[in-house]
Amino acid sequence: MKLKSITIENFRNIENETLLFSPETNLIFGDNAQGKTNVIEAIYAFSHARSFRRAKEKELIKFEKDRAVLSAVFEEKQRDVTFEIIFSKKGSKEFYYNGMRLEKMRDFFGHFLSVLFVPEYLKIIKNGPSERRSFIDSALCQIKPLFVSSLFSYHRLCEEKNALIKNFHGTEEEKLLLEVYNEKLVKSASKISAERFSYLSRLEESAKSHFEKMSGGDEISFKYLLSGEIQVDKTADFEEIYKNLFEKSLENDIRLSRMSCGAQLDDVEILINKKSARSFASQGQMRSAVVALKLSEGEVIESTMKTSPVYLFDDILSELDEKRREYILNSLHGKQVIITSCMKEENFSQTAFYAEKGTYKKI
Ligand code: ATP
Ligand code: MG
Repeated sequence: MKLKSITIENFRNIENETLLFSPETNLIFGDNAQGKTNVIEAIYAFSHARSFRRAKEKELIKFEKDRAVLSAVFEEKQRDVTFEIIFSKKGSKEFYYNGMRLEKMRDFFGHFLSVLFVPEYLKIIKNGPSERRSFIDSALCQIKPLFVSSLFSYHRLCEEKNALIKNFHGTEEEKLLLEVYNEKLVKSASKISAERFSYLSRLEESAKSHFEKMSGGDEISFKYLLSGEIQVDKTADFEEIYKNLFEKSLENDIRLSRMSCGAQLDDVEILINKKSARSFASQGQMRSAVVALKLSEGEVIESTMKTSPVYLFDDILSELDEKRREYILNSLHGKQVIITSCMKEENFSQTAFYAEKGTYKKI
């Protein structure tokens, strides 16, 4: 997959710019606060329908303007397609694929495939479970657009069950309703955890090989922790586990006024040489682990979708030492890469853009 061009209108500090990309390495360089990350944020939106900085839609629109329009031309299955996103001040967003309006979120996902590297991704290792879940969920949405619908309906069920628990008086009617919710939740949670678990197994294979090469022989491995505590392997019966969990947790749920178990609490333990990376890894090992995870994310996309994603690197080169930089760039040889940097990195860019106050000049 190659991104050919992007036109950005009234997005962040960019008024109206078109960037034509080379099919291999592209560099966007310039001083701080000129709009380099803004371009990466715009490109990422074609894969995820949102900002990777978790900004609200209206923050993406240029100050004093009513809407932002992003329009991309990229190659999908050997033909050029156009993709358009319109963010409006009210908070709504519209998507158009080859001029046709996409009504459902699941139709949006899986067209423009990308892998993003940002320095903040060290959080995947260091922070709490939600960072790891969101890494897996975002990755899964690109290769399994229906996963988006599964997530939506699971979260809706959780909200409904939580509302019931909050005002629970123990009537027969409420107990019956709770049973109905539990039955639905067992199915829905099992589906989500099973998808995540199988994705993680695919990721692990390729991450092991990258991590071993980068570290000169160390081993990375993952443990999937269902509902944040139950370690599962490929023989596990997810429905049976959830059935027991939901049944046993009722008292606790009522005490806490919310669900105390479920797929919304799943976690992944990342291990380096069988020890928790979160507790014991050095900064360098954490960096290698994130690089391994991200390169593997790209490989899983490539083997599932039969095309390589576009790799987006925001500011990462200054964060990584020479050895890891070289490892990444060698691994991605021949693939399309778009990098931002404060410096003009002569060595690896075919095409370079100079960013200044939201404008981009090809150098
Ligand atoms: P750095 O090298 O420091 O990472 P950068 O070139 O990546 O800088 P960006 O984060 O892309 O910079 O752009 C930041 C600029 O965009 C800031 O000057 C900020 O004020 C401006 N900006 C952010 N949101 C908006 C908006 N909605 N409207 C107008 N300008 C905005
Ligand atoms: Mg930046």
